[in-house]
Amino acid sequence: MTLLGLIGNPVSHSLSPLMHTCTASKLGLNLRYLTVEVPTAESVGQTLTALHDLGFRGLNVTIPYKEEAARHACKLSGVSELIGAVNVLTRVDDGWEGHNTDHTAVRDAVRERIGEGGFRALVMGAGGSARAVVAALLDSGAEEVIVANRTYSRALELANLFTRSFGAKVVAVPLERARNEAKETKVVVNTIPAGLLKSAELPLDSGDLRDDALLVDLVYGPEGSPMFRLAVSRGLALVDGIEVLARQAAHSFRLWTGIVCDHKSMEAVARFAIRRWHS
Ligand code: NDP
Repeated sequence: MTLLGLIGNPVSHSLSPLMHTCTASKLGLNLRYLTVEVPTAESVGQTLTALHDLGFRGLNVTIPYKEEAARHACKLSGVSELIGAVNVLTRVDDGWEGHNTDHTAVRDAVRERIGEGGFRALVMGAGGSARAVVAALLDSGAEEVIVANRTYSRALELANLFTRSFGAKVVAVPLERARNEAKETKVVVNTIPAGLLKSAELPLDSGDLRDDALLVDLVYGPEGSPMFRLAVSRGLALVDGIEVLARQAAHSFRLWTGIVCDHKSMEAVARFAIRRWHS
C-alpha cells in the first residue's frame, strides 16, 4: 500500500485527502492519504523522521509549516530553494526532497490563459504563497511584477530577493498603491485572506481593473471570494483558489506516483465537497 499524508495545523478542513483518494480509487491504486496535525514548528522535524520511518512515500505540507519543511528537506528541487517554502515532499533514501507545486499550479494556469509573456502583473500580499506566485509569474514571462503588501518591508524583502536572483523587475509598493497599479496591469493576483478574515479587505474596486485583466485568487472558502465578485461584476477571467488547489494536487500526485492525472477531475471533487460541507 502507498502511504501519503498531509502535515500542517489545522488539517481537518483540508480537501486534499478527498482529492487524492478519489483519484487513486479511480485509477485502482491501493493508496491511503492521512492527515497529521503537527502542534508546533519545533515538532516538524521529528514528525518528518517518524513518517519516513513508517514508510510514507510522500507528503503535502500546509500552513504554517511550508518554510519549516523546506528547512528539514535534504534536497530542494528547482525554484523551491529560492522560494524557501515547500508544499510537497517526496521520499528519498536519506529523508525528504522538497518541491513547490503552488508555483507550478499558478504558472500553468497563467500560461494557459495568457499564452505569451511580456505582461505586467500585480501581486497583493508578500507572505509564503506570494513568493511562489512571483516566481510563477516570472516563469510565465511577466516582464514586471509589482508586490503590494500591508507590511511594506516584507514586500521590499521579496522584491529584492527576486531582483537579485532572477535579475527580474520586481517592485515593492504599499498596499494602498494596489488600486493605481491595477489600472496598468494585465494579471492581478490576490494572496491576502480577504473574505476569510474580517480584518482583511481586498484593496480594489471593479473600476480599477483593465477590461482584459486576468484575475488569480489563491484564497478560497465556502462563499464566493471578493476576487470572485470582482471578476463577475466586470466579466473578467478568473483562476480561483480551488483551481490552484487542484492543479497543485495533480502535480503532487505525479511527483509521488509518476502518474499524470487531469487536474479537472480533482477540481470537480473539491468543488463538490466544498459545496456539500457548507450547505
Ligand atoms: P501568509 O500568512 O504567509 O501571508 C499572508 C499575507 O496576507 C501577508 O502578505 C499579510 O500581510 C496579508 N494579510 C493578512 N491579513 C491581512 C489583513 N488583515 N489586511 C491586509 N493584508 C493582510 O499566508 P500565505 O501566503 O501562505 O497564504 C495566503 C492565502 O493563500 C491563505 O489563505 C492560504 O490558504 C491561501 N493559499 C491557497 C493555495 C491554494 O492552493 N489555493 C496555496 C497556497 C496558499 P502582512 O505581511 O502585512 O502580514
